[in-house]
Order: sequence, then structure tokens, then C-alpha cells
Amino acid sequence: MRAAGRLLAFARDLALPPRCPGCGEIVGAAHRFCATCWSSLRFIGPPWCAACNIPFDHDRGEAARCARCIAEPPAHAGVRAAVAYGAVARTVALRLKYARRTAYAETAARLMARHVPDDATLLIPVPLHRWRLWRRGYNQAALIADHLSRLSGIPADRTTLERCRATAPLRGHSRRARAQAVRAAFRLRAGEGAAALRGQHVVLVDDVYTSGATTDACIAVLRRGGVARVTVLAWTRVLDDDAAGTSTD
Ligand SMILES: [Zn+2]
Ligand SMILES: [Zn+2]
Repeated sequence: MRAAGRLLAFARDLALPPRCPGCGEIVGAAHRFCATCWSSLRFIGPPWCAACNIPFDHDRGEAARCARCIAEPPAHAGVRAAVAYGAVARTVALRLKYARRTAYAETAARLMARHVPDDATLLIPVPLHRWRLWRRGYNQAALIADHLSRLSGIPADRTTLERCRATAPLRGHSRRARAQAVRAAFRLRAGEGAAALRGQHVVLVDDVYTSGATTDACIAVLRRGGVARVTVLAWTRVLDDDAAGTSTD
């Protein structure tokens, strides 16, 4: 965020009482949700698919995988998210991304921290194209990664993976069209950071996980750069309940 924006946010935080990130009601402490919004959040956790972490409605054993992952083993080592996509999760994501509510990056990170894998070695945020970064002033995924780094003690690298091509919003496009749109959008910046990727277990940090097209494109680039494993970690994730319900193991 640019200096003026940062100063404004700081002044606002000082002057105003903490508010619920979901509805704006005054709450007891910063980063806390009111009881109504809190109880409406659907936290994601086991039992879930061992490969993609889609929640199962009943426990099928730790190694059980959903039908989609059995048919096509994913390139990632898991897709973790704090909460399922819903009204409150969406509000937090939109305000963080478009309304300069950068404090929500910490709100999200606090609820995401428990999902950082024990053996993770490096956090990498999904990068923004530099034009978009310049216009918005900050990359919300990078802000989340910074807070996760502070909470977990795992270093964050926000420069090695870069977005070399700005892509139009992917909403409403088919799976194939999304994949095609982002295929060549990412690359590694040559240098020390790229050399240090070899053998790492990277946590790829994003705000919202939808189809996986963007993270798949990032993962392909990271794996080509020698990264051993990539776990995706997002604030919120769109759950395809039909897919989970019809899955077998
Ligand atoms: Zn609320
Ligand atoms: Zn799965």
C-alpha cells in the first residue's frame, strides 16, 4: 500500500472502535467477528479428501480421496482454506481486495495459520501483475502471506514468482478457458530466490480459491523451478458440494 493509504488506515484504526469484518457491528477486539457472523462461517477441516481437502460429510479414513482426485491426481499437495465461500467470507475478501481494508489480511491469516503444513518451508503469495499492483497499491495475497509468515515463522518470498501477463477476470469462464487464460501468465524471476526454490515445500497463498486455474498455473512454474511440493492455502474456498457428495473412495 502506498504511504498515504497506510497512514490513513493507521489513523482510522486508532480513532475507531474495532468492527466485525463481516457486518461492521462494533466488537470487543480487532479481527474478531460478531457472534452472528462467526456462527455463519463454515470452517473447513477433516474429515476431508487426503489429496484436495474437500470436506467429506462423514469420516472415510485419513487416506480417502474424492472421486475427482482418484480420476486425476492433482499437481498440488492439498488445497487448504480457513472457511467455505459464503456471504461473510466473501465480504471479507472483497473489502480486503477492493476497499483498502488491509487489516483484514491479518484477520484472514489468523484463521488460516492452523492450516499451514508442519513441514512447509516457504510461503509464496499468488502474484499480481505490476500494473494491477500499481493501481491497487497492494497485493492482498502478499499481505496475507506476510502475516502468515509472522505467525508461523516460515519465510515468505513475494518476488521470485511473478505475473508477467495481466489476465481478465476469470469469473464465468469454463474450466478449460480459465486454464488457457492463465497458462503463460506466470514465470520465475531469475536470481537467488529462484535458485533457493529447489526441494522446498511451498505454501502458495491466495485470498479466494475458485477453480484452481490460477494456482495450477503457478504450481506448474514452481515445479519446473525445482519445488518439491506445493500446498495451496486460501482464506476462503468455493466448495462444489455436489462433487463432494457424489465422490467415492
Ligand atoms: Zn458481524
Ligand atoms: Zn480430492
